[in-house]
Amino acid sequence: MSDPTDVLIVGAGPVGMLTALALAQTGASVRVLDKEEQIINSPRAAVYFPSTLIILEELGILDELNEIGFRNRDFGTHIPEFDHHSVVTTEPIEGIPYDYQLHAGQHDVARVAMEHARKLGVEVLFGHEVHGYEEYDDRIVVMTSSEEGEQTYEAKWLVGCDGARSTVRKLAGIEFEGHTWPERFVATNVKFPFQELGYEQANFVCDPVNMAVIAQLDRDGLWRCTYMEDSSLPEETYEDRIHQRYEWFMQGRKDYELVSSSPYMLHQRAAETLHKGRVLLAGDAAHATNPCGGLGLTSGVWTGIVLADILGAVLRGEEDEEIFDRFSDERRRVFWEVVTPAATENKRMLQEQDMEQRKKDLASIEALNTDPESGALLMLFAYKVIGDVLREGSRWADADPSDRVAINFKDRKGQIH
Ligand SMILES: Cc1cc2nc3c(=O)[nH]c(=O)nc-3n(C[C@H](O)[C@H](O)[C@H](O)COP(=O)(O)OP(=O)(O)OC[C@H]3O[C@@H](n4cnc5c(N)ncnc54)[C@H](O)[C@@H]3O)c2cc1C
Repeated sequence: MSDPTDVLIVGAGPVGMLTALALAQTGASVRVLDKEEQIINSPRAAVYFPSTLIILEELGILDELNEIGFRNRDFGTHIPEFDHHSVVTTEPIEGIPYDYQLHAGQHDVARVAMEHARKLGVEVLFGHEVHGYEEYDDRIVVMTSSEEGEQTYEAKWLVGCDGARSTVRKLAGIEFEGHTWPERFVATNVKFPFQELGYEQANFVCDPVNMAVIAQLDRDGLWRCTYMEDSSLPEETYEDRIHQRYEWFMQGRKDYELVSSSPYMLHQRAAETLHKGRVLLAGDAAHATNPCGGLGLTSGVWTGIVLADILGAVLRGEEDEEIFDRFSDERRRVFWEVVTPAATENKRMLQEQDMEQRKKDLASIEALNTDPESGALLMLFAYKVIGDVLREGSRWADADPSDRVAINFKDRKGQIH
């Protein structure tokens, strides 16, 4: 058996690696185990809001990620049946530290976090599938299978960051409460100049049949187009239908190159507890939301970072273990009271079936566009309120980032006041 560590993390996804880095920065010894041979590069999270940027900066990796990805200040909403195209931008806001969203693949976020964590001594072992553990009063021993055979790893604490189907959560006998949505989403990565058709770098397309979330992924013309399809259609033939669906989003153009795609089910679920004995949960293993509006990784990363903060404090003897129950209660509350209503409302608006409600949605979106400052304020709301609430349960909860923020508005002539 290898040397014991303070913490074993299962899952080298973005939450596992950011949590590992944050823990290592507190001085904890950390080992990460992942069943894949490398960081997974399937089409998933791509857009990070200011609340996540705060974390990336605190961990010292934001500048590097800004170089890899790109910054975007605009968000487009398209309602084709009403011929409505509008953009909300943070352009009128000056003087806040994070006035943009970062676009970057989540595998890049995980990789950069891993590189920094390794420099601090974190051991990341790929090709190790966790399938069991034994818990003792003061430690926990985890069993893995790998090409070299069966191995065991010991730590004081085990953190499951192993995704929505978490093995750690199942081994701990923790229920994943909530529901799975009936629709299937299809995420595709495609090379196509969407901006030539009037799309912004990030967009909602609201339509009862052809809803989509479309966002630019890199500076080389790669975009994400995620749409919904009826889950009664056979999943194994979803690829045959992509080209037909593209007809609509690309207005009949065929000069695209499909790079990758993946169908997925959407959940609105949280573990009944994020703490049981020496087992803790973060990321999608702790709570999984539909991704409309990008709150999945956003909330999952915050749960990981809050956990790293308090786990570091427990390891140093500054906090009692009972803080883990407060952490669990608070993070579950944030998920059910903040993340779930916001993500559910985004999903509803994207695919609303009722014509009267669609007209009301249109009216509220148009109201935002009569005054660019209100759109900017909405973005600020996302920055401040969601960011503040997401950090609840954290020992940083009182450190209000808006203290550092002096907000000014540009008038339409660009004057700042
Ligand atoms: C199409 C799509 C688009 C999305 N877009 C956004 C977005 O724009 N913004 C946003 O905030 N969120 C978004 N999300 C959600 C986001 O992708 C997830 O919240 C995120 O992947 C969760 O990260 P994680 O590290 O918790 O888990 P995962 O990324 O699922 O990583 C889990 C890791 O655990 C490993 N693992 C699993 N089981 C075992 C085992 N038994 N032993 C060892 N290792 C194991 C896996 O190999 C994997 O590497 C999107 C999701 C989807 C599907």
